Amino acid sequence: MRIAIAGISHEALNTSPLPTTLEHFQVWRGDEILKGEGQFAPYAAGAAATGLAGPKYASISQMMNDLEAEPVPILCANGLAPSGTVDLNSYLQLRDEIIDGIQQAGQLDGICLVLHGALLVEHIWSGETDLVRSIRAAVGNDILISARFDLHGNLTEEFANKTDIWTVYRTAPHRDAPQTLERAMTLLAHCIRGGHRPRPVFVRVPMLLPGERATTDVEPMKSLLELAIEIGRQPGILTAEILVGFGWADAPHSASSVVVIAEDEPHLPHARRQAKRLAQALWDQRHNFTFDQEVAASADEAIDLALAAEESCVFIADSGDNPTAGTPGDVPHFLSRLLAKDVPDAIVAGIPDSAAAHACFEAGVGAEVTLSLCGKLDTGHGAPVEVTGKVEHLYHADPDAKDVSIATVQVGGVRVLVTDRRTYFSTLNDFRKAGVEPLDHKIVVVKLGYLMPELRDAAPREILALTPGYSDMDFTRLPYRYVTRPILPLDEDFAWSPVITNVAGYGG
Ligand SMILES: [Zn+2]
Repeated sequence: MRIAIAGISHEALNTSPLPTTLEHFQVWRGDEILKGEGQFAPYAAGAAATGLAGPKYASISQMMNDLEAEPVPILCANGLAPSGTVDLNSYLQLRDEIIDGIQQAGQLDGICLVLHGALLVEHIWSGETDLVRSIRAAVGNDILISARFDLHGNLTEEFANKTDIWTVYRTAPHRDAPQTLERAMTLLAHCIRGGHRPRPVFVRVPMLLPGERATTDVEPMKSLLELAIEIGRQPGILTAEILVGFGWADAPHSASSVVVIAEDEPHLPHARRQAKRLAQALWDQRHNFTFDQEVAASADEAIDLALAAEESCVFIADSGDNPTAGTPGDVPHFLSRLLAKDVPDAIVAGIPDSAAAHACFEAGVGAEVTLSLCGKLDTGHGAPVEVTGKVEHLYHADPDAKDVSIATVQVGGVRVLVTDRRTYFSTLNDFRKAGVEPLDHKIVVVKLGYLMPELRDAAPREILALTPGYSDMDFTRLPYRYVTRPILPLDEDFAWSPVITNVAGYGG
C-alpha cells in the first residue's frame, strides 16, 4: 500500500494588508516530512492534554511502519504565521510541485493531505479546493484522498465531493495536531485495505465564530464534540467532524460546518441523517458560544483590572491585533494606553519592526534609543508612536531556524519586545529568549486571542481585551463584503435547517 503525503497549510486573513508569499512558508520535501521535527512540522509534537491521549507515534515514518504502508512524501508547506491572502504565483508554485510529485510517484493507493482549511489564495478563494481539484484532474477518481484540518477552517462542497475522508482537530487551543493526522492516515489505510469507498456528507452552518468563543474544554463545544465522537462510532460511519470555521476571513465560503463520513455508499443515507443531526445541534447552540476566559471591553479596562489584581502576574490578550489570526501585529493601541497610563511594570510581546530592531542592535545593550514603533505594517488602526528607552537585551535569531531576533527595550515601566519580523509569543521560552521572565511582571500583554496551552497553564490570570484591529472579536464591527448572507452574527437571527448540498461522489 503506497500513500502520498502532501499539503499546504496556512490560515489567511484576507482583510490583512500583508500578502503571504513563498518566503512566509516553511517547506519540507521528501524524507524531511517523515521525521516530524520542528514546531511547524507536518507531524508536530502534540501536548498530552488532560482527557486526551497523546500521539501514538514519534514520527510519520513510525506511523506508516505500524500501518504497513509505504509513505511517498512529496511536499508539505506550512505558513510560518497566519497572515494575509496567499499570492497566486507562490501558491501555484507549491501546488504544481505537489502535482508533479504525485504524477511522478508511480502507482499510489491513497493520498493524505496535511491542511489547515483557511488557505485563501488571490483570485482563487479556497486554496484547499483548488488543490484537490488539481489533484483529481491529475490522478482521476480511483485513488482515495484523506485530509487533516485545523478546526478553524472554511471548507466547500466541492472539496467534500472530491475527497473521501476528513479529520479535524478536536481541541482549541490546539493540542491534537498529530493525533488528527494519525486518524486521517489510519482511516485511509483502513479503507484502502478493506476496499471501502467512503462518502463525505458536508453541511454548511451559517455562522461566523471567533475561535475564542468556541474553545473545546467548555460548553457548548465540549458536548458538541462528544456528539460528533458518538456519531463517528456508529456502524457504517468512519468519523464525524466539526469545523468551527475561520470567521475573520471575508470569503463566500466562510462558515462553520460539519462533515460525516459514510464508510461506503450503502451507509450514505444513515450518514446524511447523522450529518443533519450534528449540524442542527451546532445551530441550536448558536447563542451559547461564549468566551471561556475573563473579558475586558477595552485596553483601559484590562489594564485597570490587572493593576488592581491580587495575582502577581496577569496576562492580557490584545485580541483585536492577533497575528495568530493573521493580523500584521503592530497596532499601536495597547502600547499607547500603557504609556499614557504610566503603568509601572508591563511587557508588550511583541512589536514587529525590522527597522527599529535593527536600530537597537546597532546601538547595543545599555544604549538609549528613540524609536518610532507600530502603525507601519497595519496602517489602518493608528499612527506610529515615538518612544525613548534603553536597550536592555538583544537576542540574535538562530540562523538555522525560522527564528526571530528580539530587542528588549525598557520605556518607562514598559518593556517592549521589538522583533525583526512578524511573530507571536506563545511559549515561556519565547519570552526567555528576550531576557524576560514573564511571570515576574505584573502585566504581560500578548498579541494573541486565547493563550496557547503552555501560557494558559502558566498564567496566574488571563484577561481577553476586546481591542481594535483586523481580528476584532466583534464581527459586527468588521466590514465584510464577500461572505454569503444571511449569516450570524451579521444578520438578525433567522430560520435555518440543515441542507446537504454536496453530492458525495465526485460530481463537481
Ligand atoms: Zn486553529
